[in-house]
Amino acid sequence: MEDKVMFRHSVSLHLRGIRELHKVSAGFFPILTLYCVFNAVIPYVTVFFSAQILKELATGRQAEVLWKWVIISVLGIGAAAIGKAFLYRRYQTLLSDLYGRKEILFIRKMFSLDFSELDKQETHDLRSQIQQDENWGSWGLMKLDEIYMSFVTGVIGLICGISLTVSLFTSPVPEGSGWLTVLNHPGFALVFAGLIAAGSILAGKLTAVSMKGWGQCAEDATFGNRLFSHFGFICMDTARSVDIRMSDQHALAASYFRLNNAFGADSALGKIFRGRIGIVSSLGACVIPLVTGLIYLFTCLKARGGAFDVGSITQYVGAATAMTNNIHALTELTGLLKTNAPYLENTFAFLDIRSAMYQGSLTTEKRADRNYNVEFRDVSFRYPGSDRWALRHFSMKLQVGKRLAIVGENGSGKTTFIKLLCRLYDPQEGQILLNGIDIRKYNYRDYMDIFSVVFQDFQLVSQPLGNNVAGSMNYDRERAQKALADAGFGDRLSAMEKGLNTMLYKNLDEDGVEISGGEAQKIALARALYKDAPFIILDEPTAALDPIAEAEIYAKFNDIAGDKTAVYISHRLSSCKFCDEIAVFHEGQIIQQGTHEELVAIEGGKYHELWTAQAQYYAGHFRIQ
Ligand code: ADP
Repeated sequence: MEDKVMFRHSVSLHLRGIRELHKVSAGFFPILTLYCVFNAVIPYVTVFFSAQILKELATGRQAEVLWKWVIISVLGIGAAAIGKAFLYRRYQTLLSDLYGRKEILFIRKMFSLDFSELDKQETHDLRSQIQQDENWGSWGLMKLDEIYMSFVTGVIGLICGISLTVSLFTSPVPEGSGWLTVLNHPGFALVFAGLIAAGSILAGKLTAVSMKGWGQCAEDATFGNRLFSHFGFICMDTARSVDIRMSDQHALAASYFRLNNAFGADSALGKIFRGRIGIVSSLGACVIPLVTGLIYLFTCLKARGGAFDVGSITQYVGAATAMTNNIHALTELTGLLKTNAPYLENTFAFLDIRSAMYQGSLTTEKRADRNYNVEFRDVSFRYPGSDRWALRHFSMKLQVGKRLAIVGENGSGKTTFIKLLCRLYDPQEGQILLNGIDIRKYNYRDYMDIFSVVFQDFQLVSQPLGNNVAGSMNYDRERAQKALADAGFGDRLSAMEKGLNTMLYKNLDEDGVEISGGEAQKIALARALYKDAPFIILDEPTAALDPIAEAEIYAKFNDIAGDKTAVYISHRLSSCKFCDEIAVFHEGQIIQQGTHEELVAIEGGKYHELWTAQAQYYAGHFRIQ
């Protein structure tokens, strides 16, 4: 009973898998179905035509009838073979394409996930598990093509087989043929048919046992593959190449290969297949020739008794053997379905992760005066899985058109504040309001249109410089140039032969340019300026810049920010002096707020403490020099 439920569950998982793949490649299953039809029918067509020719040779021997069969056979089998070859090529092309296309399902999911889900290690582990399962045995969605093919070919083959072999059982041995007339007894025919079917099913079941082996060692194999994909390519990772050489990490990587042998003869996998499971599945392979022998015996005995001619022997033996293979494949399929089910469960567990955050539908008002009021009202937030409040009873209003600097020690909640503002997370308590309305009610894309953000760990892509700045293939070149110039990249841009068309990084183009951390930061800043949103938010925007470049940016920050509301996080307090207001964060709260002059005057205050500590540091440097 439990087995039945499990089987039904496996079938429904596979049907959903087919629907999911069909969404990203509408042509794949129709072509595969056609290919399966040809694949299933051709052996029977061949058997049928050969039998007709043999029959004619053995009995009528009329030249024109023989010729007719020969021509029909050659044309029929030839056309079927050409059709099959054509469909095979098409199927193979679509299959290779499907390997890439099915990623669309995962990419779409990744993009629609709530950031808090995306940020969870379990989400990444699940995705990586799905990838590894596919890599080591095409388990999961990419097993569907094999399963679908076995099923459709098996069922069509079975129908053809039955229609060509029915008369094997119904043609009687003529009376007067001695003891062989016993074969006419319906019970006898039933026993033979039963034995053939049971043998084929048994063979399929025994072979299916080997599938269990794959299931049992899935964890080891997946882990082995994971190690391989990490350590096997570690030396090719340019970001690690220096560390690997300096710290002899290649020896550490090599030791993993010595200690973890997931696929060798002595591995868990090897032991499973050398043991009971291996023996049982080999027995499955032995049963098939026995069944074929039985078919030969029954057919030849009936022919000997005179039930049919020599041509029919070819037809029955050929068709019954092909049918045995079909039954065998269909039975084996039940094992494959069960083995693949947990892999599909993982896939759907990932594709079904609930995305609840970005459901708002309100459009944000497009305001030429950029008069957007943002307020944090008694907000408290802790990261998923953490019991520590990153922000606690936090309230603040952003003043339209003003420059706000945020300072505070590491871990005081500065980046968290920006992440909440950008709705990467929602607070557990309190509200964040835009023009008096909870930001959860806005359409997320619309809402994000009003922010230009540069995070500390920004990323550029291996694309031309201009595309990076605009975040688009088509863009306004003048605006991109101006944004780069404002971000302090103007001189470097003028020195670039291909200007905005210069490819960043060399990994996709040998003419690409490698840029320094400071240059990358300027490009990221230019990207934020190009977007020209009402809010510009910069998290440590000059950390990688040299002092001269940093001074240049500050000197013209007021111009750059224009009428935008700017929020600016910095560790260098001297760089916050130009802001209208400074908020001092401490343990998830704002403990001081005011201008530089006001705050620095409060002795014993946090800002004074931070300021004095940095002033001493710089003073120390000056003394040394
Ligand atoms: P700051 O930007 O001021 O250095 P953050 O806002 O990054 O501080 O961090 C505030 C607190 O939240 C810290 O205690 C930090 O350890 C914690 N924190 C930050 N990111 C995460 C995260 N993804 N998961 C759990 N805790 C986090």
